Amino acid sequence: AKAHGGNTSCLYSLLDGESDVRQMKLENGLRTSIENEQLQIVYQPIINLQTTRVAGLEALLRWEHHELGNISPAEFIPIAEKNGMIITIGKWVLETACRQLGEWQSDGFSELCMAVNVSTRQIYEKGFSESVKVILEETGVNPSKLTLEITESLMQDHNFSTHVFKELKEIGVQLSIDDFGTGYSSLSVLSSSQIDRLKIDQSFTQGMLGDGKTQSIVKTIIDMGANLDLELIAEGIETQEQEETLRQFGCQYGQGYYISRPLSAEKVDMYLFAKSR
Ligand code: C2E
Ligand code: CA
Ligand code: CA
Ligand code: CA
Repeated sequence: AKAHGGNTSCLYSLLDGESDVRQMKLENGLRTSIENEQLQIVYQPIINLQTTRVAGLEALLRWEHHELGNISPAEFIPIAEKNGMIITIGKWVLETACRQLGEWQSDGFSELCMAVNVSTRQIYEKGFSESVKVILEETGVNPSKLTLEITESLMQDHNFSTHVFKELKEIGVQLSIDDFGTGYSSLSVLSSSQIDRLKIDQSFTQGMLGDGKTQSIVKTIIDMGANLDLELIAEGIETQEQEETLRQFGCQYGQGYYISRPLSAEKVDMYLFAKSR
């Protein structure tokens, strides 16, 4: 459609140019996002569905670009993975989230856990597990309270991930497969006993009430989790009915807008105190 003259092709090339410019602004902006204090972490509560108590929080990264405004992590994480900035940014997220968890634990919420997303690129970086260890020591967080969320695509290179997972398990952190059911992970990864939790992808949570097969899949994942001694978290819970159904299926943990949106650290303070009363 772009080949020959006329207004249409002009329009297309203009749009292409604009998206290139945006891409470049994002790439460059990422390099200075930390020092310019444009990154922020919001925390989404994870509750125990059976007791309704807060079990932990998931750290979710936010970026406010000075000119382009809020950029979704779905847009900038892939860019950061490509240009390598994810290494620095990912470390910053781990440090900040662990330091924050330490504060909440000293405020009396000592059982609280923190889940942090890590990208494949971070895990493959030499010295990753060592840097996790150092961050835990520096922030005084008990390793068992930190969960690293890893998406299934990582499971493709089975030998390598097994090696890094082993190092991480020696440190004592929890490992969780994110977006479970949408990726490539073979069931053999689950039998390796390195994985502690599965996060049921939100497409299942949101699809299960309208579709019998999806509901069976959710039920099967939950039963499998119980049999393999894995903790199960359902994400993307948007309605009371979804929460109720998952509770009845025996799912242990839940997360989603119906329970709470991701919150700033200050709002989490209030949320935790309100829930503990
Ligand atoms: P994710 O790890 O699967 O995180 C869940 C996403 O679903 C988050 O989007 C969250 O805000 C959103 N969400 C939570 N509850 C609901 C709900 O009830 N309904 C709907 N529709 N959405 C819900 P967010 O924050 O935009 O993050 C998108 C993705 O970006 C994350 O997906 C994760 O893969 C990635 N990401 C975010 N922060 C980080 C980070 O610090 N490091 C890395 N490597 N990736 C990150
Ligand atoms: Ca996640
Ligand atoms: Ca997820
Ligand atoms: Ca996702």
